[in-house]
Formats: sequence, structure tokens, C-alpha cells
Amino acid sequence: MLAEVISIGDELTSGQRLDTNSQWLSQRLGELGFRVVWHTTVADDLDANIAVFRTAVERADVVVASGGLGPTADDLTRDAVAAMLGVDLVLDEAVLERIRAMFAFFKRDMPEKNRVQAMFPAGTHVIPNPHGTAPGIAATIERADRAPSRLYCLPGVPAEMFEMFAASVAPELVPTDGSRRLLRHRVIKCFGVGESHLEQMLPDLIRRGREPSVGITVSQATISLRITASGASEEACLTQIAPTEETIRQCLGDIVFGESEDELEHAVARLLAAEQKSLATAELGTGGLVAERLREAPEAAPWFRGGYVAADAAMLSRMIPVEEELARLPAGEEDSSQARFVRAAALACRAETETDLALVVGELPRFDAANPEANRVWFAVATADGVTVKSAPTAGHPAILISRTAKQGLNMVRLLLLRGADPSANLSR
Ligand code: AMP
Ligand code: MG
Repeated sequence: MLAEVISIGDELTSGQRLDTNSQWLSQRLGELGFRVVWHTTVADDLDANIAVFRTAVERADVVVASGGLGPTADDLTRDAVAAMLGVDLVLDEAVLERIRAMFAFFKRDMPEKNRVQAMFPAGTHVIPNPHGTAPGIAATIERADRAPSRLYCLPGVPAEMFEMFAASVAPELVPTDGSRRLLRHRVIKCFGVGESHLEQMLPDLIRRGREPSVGITVSQATISLRITASGASEEACLTQIAPTEETIRQCLGDIVFGESEDELEHAVARLLAAEQKSLATAELGTGGLVAERLREAPEAAPWFRGGYVAADAAMLSRMIPVEEELARLPAGEEDSSQARFVRAAALACRAETETDLALVVGELPRFDAANPEANRVWFAVATADGVTVKSAPTAGHPAILISRTAKQGLNMVRLLLLRGADPSANLSR
């Protein structure tokens, strides 16, 4: 069964607002077994809306539209649907009473223009809106030689739209032609290697036509593997997904840090909580981004104790006693000056904050094409067992450099927590 999603509003076509309703509706329709083949976005223009609805109900078995149901002159959905159906708008007394009651609840008189929200194209149904004045419209459109198309018009306000879709539309959307196939996804999150390297580590999973399919996407150095199965039931989908997931986890080991909406900070937070270890940070190159991420992971709250943010090494040395720690470090031949600095800073940060772990993210070097070896950022994590230092190249697009560096710092903490204080542990990722 084919579906179309329509988004209505000048704010969308002019680029002032991003159309997020289409994304959400498409995901829900996919889960219900529909193939969304068209996204149409249209301005608040009556003729354009009528044309869009005509085309949609002709080609799609289910059409879900959002927007244009408010009380103002630019809200044209009800007029467009009536025109498309060739019917008049008729007043629904019960809906009018509800709108009046809502205004009365807020001790206000109902403005006359809200009356239009109780007008419905003749022959259509009301989709109740528990939290707003704009109810939705449901219509069934007969088509020659085919099953009718079903049209659902919902308000544009995302929270109202979500609720109404879930309560009134989704329950009606069981495909009637026996083709009901549910779609289920499982997203596995990975960090620490490049996309093509990761693909090489997997046995030919990411090929077209495989069932379940495996897709790979990268966002700011985090790789998501999405397993998608379709089947007649939830169980049928999950049974397909499980062995593929198991293969991925076995091949990738601790490159996998989580699933679905997980980010590295959530993985770190869970490990800190499990081991009851506290963490502090000192950041130069990332300007506090590691701390901000940890702040946003609720599970980290008791364990992330705080962080220093400094513009450069000299400033960090004024905040915490890095110089004293540097003076105490044995003169290791192989250590670069940056390595020595982050090592000393991690010791100073851990001592000052009295935490179990301290993560230091060093300065981001200025790009130097003549000396690629210098394009590295240094990290150190101090624990009760000593300090681990690593560095990573800073090549890549500057737009994601800070975010990726913050993730590298978080990932280093994660791997240390996972692998314990094994000095031979490879933290190069
Ligand atoms: P409307 O139902 O057209 O009055 O829309 C009400 C509000 O919902 C608009 O002002 C937008 O802020 C928001 N909105 C409408 N359509 C969308 C959409 N497709 N995606 C995200 N927000 C939307
Ligand atoms: Mg609008």
C-alpha cells in the first residue's frame, strides 16, 4: 500500500521552518507497513492545495496531511478538501460546542473566526484534537476500479499532530489488501573507525536486496548501522533482526557502544554508574563540549563532577597545578611536549577534583600542511592506576572537528572503563 505525506504552510515552502512532520509521519507509516513514496510540501495557496490533494488521493492509498487547519485566513485545508471533493462546508455543532467550551475554560469569549474550525467538508469525519481547537478531517475518496484512498488532515503543531495520529489515525490504518507488512528497525551505534574500514570488518551485510537489510550512515564520526526487517508480525521482524545483530556485535566488538538514540556520553555514563566512578574533565580544544554532553546524559549526573575549560595550556595551568605535576614527571625521552602536558594536566585535574577519573583534551593544533605529524590532538585519562595518553590525527572537515574530538575523549574514557587498567589495552581508537 502506497502512502503520501503532505505538509502545508508558507513557513515551510519559504524555508523559515523545517518540515519535521513529514519525517515523523513517514516513520510511523513505514512501521505500519505502508511504503511512503511521495512527500509534497505546499504553500498556503488554495489552488495549489486543491491540486496537491487531487494528485495525492489519485496515486496514494493513504494520504496524511498536516497544517492549514487553524482559524486564520491563511488556513485553507478545509476549503481545499471541500473543493477537491466538490462539496460544501457544513457546521458540526458538537465541535463548535467543544471549541466554545475550551475558550470558556480559559474565561475568554470565542472569537467569531474560530467558528470556521467547526466547519467540515460534507461527508467527512472529525478527528478529535484533545489539546487544541483545530480538529482534523478524515475522508474516504472513491476511485474507479480501485480501493478508495483514505485522507487524513491533521493540524501542523507537531505535539497535537503526533497525539492525534497515534490516537485516531494509526488504529484505522491496517492495510486492507492483505499486504500488511510491518517494518522494524534496530540501530546499532559505533565509534572509533572510519565508515569503509567498518564495512570491511563486516561480512557482506551491507548489500542491496539482503533481508534484513543493513544500512550505514555517519553523523559526526558516529556510525549507525540500521537493520531493517519487514514481516507479518513484530516477532517475525525481531526474529530476522537478531542473528544479524549478533553477527555485527561479534565482528565489531567494543567499536559498538550503544543502540537507537544512544550517544557516547550515555555509554560513558552507564559505565561510570556501573563502576561507581566519578569523572572530571579539563578541556582545551573542545571548549567544554565534553562537559556539555555529559551534562545532557541524565545517568551521568551523580558521576560527572565538573570540568575546566581553558583557551590554552597557559590558562589551564593557572586553574590547576599542571606545572607542579610537570616538574614531578620523569623525563621520558619518547614523550612529546603535548603528551607530557596532557599527562600532567590529567594528574592535576584528578588531584584537584578528587575524582576517580580525569579526562584531558588537549589543544587543537592549527592545520599545518607542511608538517602533518603536528596535526594531532592529545588526550589523557588519569585513574588510580596511572595515566593513559593517546593522540589522534585532526584531519577532516573543520565543521565536525570539535564534535569528533569531544567524542574521541569520551570514547577513551569508555574504553578504559570497559577494559580496566590493562596497560596493553589498545586505546588507539
Ligand atoms: P498550522 O496547523 O498550519 O496552523 O501550523 C501550526 C504550526 O505548526 C506552524 O506555525 C508551524 O510552526 C508548525 N508546523 C506546521 N507544519 C509543520 C511541519 N510540517 N513540520 C513542523 N512544524 C510544522
Ligand atoms: Mg499554517
